Amino acid sequence: MLEEMKPLFCELYGNPSSMHTFGGQIGRKIRKARQQVAELLGCDPSEIIFTSCGTESDNAAIRGTLAAQPDRRKIITTRVEHPAVLAVCRELENHGYSVVEMAVDKQGRLDLAELEEQIDDETALVTIMYANNETGVVFPIEKIARMVAEKGALFHTDAVQTVGKIALDLSKSRIDLLSLSGHKLHAPKGVGVLYVRKGTRLSPFMLGGHQEAGRRAGTENVPGIVALGKACELAAKNLEEENNKVRYLRDKLENAILESCPGAMLNGDKENRLPNTTNISFEYIEGEAILLMLDKFGVCASSGSACTSGSLEPSHVLRAMGIPFTAAHGSIRFSLSRYNTEEEVDYTIEKMPQIVNKLRELSPFITK
Ligand code: PLP
Repeated sequence: MLEEMKPLFCELYGNPSSMHTFGGQIGRKIRKARQQVAELLGCDPSEIIFTSCGTESDNAAIRGTLAAQPDRRKIITTRVEHPAVLAVCRELENHGYSVVEMAVDKQGRLDLAELEEQIDDETALVTIMYANNETGVVFPIEKIARMVAEKGALFHTDAVQTVGKIALDLSKSRIDLLSLSGHKLHAPKGVGVLYVRKGTRLSPFMLGGHQEAGRRAGTENVPGIVALGKACELAAKNLEEENNKVRYLRDKLENAILESCPGAMLNGDKENRLPNTTNISFEYIEGEAILLMLDKFGVCASSGSACTSGSLEPSHVLRAMGIPFTAAHGSIRFSLSRYNTEEEVDYTIEKMPQIVNKLRELSPFITK
């Protein structure tokens, strides 16, 4: 991937919007990347809009579809969305939109009958994530997309955690808009995609030049786009491996921790989950303290999402699932990839009981 990016920093520094030869060379690189992304998603290259990140794609999808349907004022989403969706919906609520945040059950699952009841003639957009970034729980998105289409509303899915981990074929899907983020599939940070199904009405979010066929103004992050194209090509090749090797490593890690660490419990639906994510609570100890000790041993994990780590609020996702405060506070998430090794997993398995036992000794909530 780096090899593909290097010339764009050194020799090929033209602006793709320029008429000269340098510009043309870059334009071809972007076209190739668009094709590579489209192949992974199973869509037409013209349906791909490059953005700066997943957050921008989510914002553009929500604001753009609402602006294009001024007579519909209702949005349906879930309580467990990433802040890139939730914060936008809540802000729109302050501007007179009616926003329904669907609840989830203890395993993080949605009630589809309840969702169906909520979709009415006022509904402009239903936006529901494909897979949750904290628990890895996967929603039945194709089923939801069909339900929303039958009811005549638009459907957006935040697939930032999904692309490259679950095979998608948008040509056969009823999804209208889909967001992805480069760094979740090993491309660099600072590039994302919004897929917009042909014929979907969307007002541009960024105004200015004619880039991205007038749908997203602003000079392109060419090295990021080229790397994302390559990342999509590699993801398509490695999907099977991601599903098998990574799932094996995740399960080995998860089972060992659940067996060896007192007070450990798994969060989220065990069946319908991404292959790479596990979210475990350790009652009466602090997730942050576990992370710091893991970090000392050279193991990087997170509590909540990377974006909310550092805040003392327990995860809104786990709270929505009804996980008790004491357990939500002590939750950590491991996310693995095809670049992790079995040695790394074994090392973490060895360290985790030591860490948990030490913190439990210090916990004021556990009486000896
Ligand atoms: N949506 C989900 C589900 C995510 O996990 C993230 C980031 O972790 C985002 C959106 C935001 O993506 P980005 O960091 O590219 O803005």
